[in-house]
Amino acid sequence: MELLERKIREEGRVLSASVLKVDAFINHQIDPVLMDSIGREFADRFSGEGITKILTLESSGIAPAQMTGLHLQVPVIFARKRRSLTLNDQLYTSEVYSFTKEQSNEIAVSHDFINADDHVLILDDFLANGQAALGLLHIVEQAGASLEGIGILIEKAFQEGGEGLRNRGIRVESLARIASLENGRVQFVEKVGA
Ligand code: 5GP
Repeated sequence: MELLERKIREEGRVLSASVLKVDAFINHQIDPVLMDSIGREFADRFSGEGITKILTLESSGIAPAQMTGLHLQVPVIFARKRRSLTLNDQLYTSEVYSFTKEQSNEIAVSHDFINADDHVLILDDFLANGQAALGLLHIVEQAGASLEGIGILIEKAFQEGGEGLRNRGIRVESLARIASLENGRVQFVEKVGA
């Protein structure tokens, strides 16, 4: 997606050969116009899949997931990372190792919001080693729902997550695919035919 790639080139900061900082438009400050375009793009790509729910992870997945939900006209559920006094329902839970925080979190979703009739689109901001996506997939499986695909804003294609998920036969749509962050430079995966 050209708009997202341009934003990454202009406002992203390479912190190391494996970490990209996008606090200026996704992870701290949010660009709502960009999020709207992202939502429309995912809605176009996944229209016709009969999506009934979008599942993401708090907090950075919420903005793009909400915009996608708006364009697909379906509810958005975000898995919670912290137990809360109000989250006292029956829960689906999964353990997720965080790439950026270098710690494990239990994520949880109430039984009230996903069931076996649902066709779920998982969304997240980054795809690195795939731990967050696998944790969300585990929740979809516990609910007996169908996974229709995974939408990712920024896939670091030099890490193993995308290949692992695609090898399982899962449709993964990434709006920007990064081939390398070496030498402080963002190199995107060349598009076939570009
Ligand atoms: P994974 O679970 O695929 O290893 O990593 C994905 C999760 O880690 C995302 O939810 C995202 O929050 C975080 N993440 C992974 N790599 C990066 C990165 O380069 N930059 C930022 N800002 N977050 C990342």
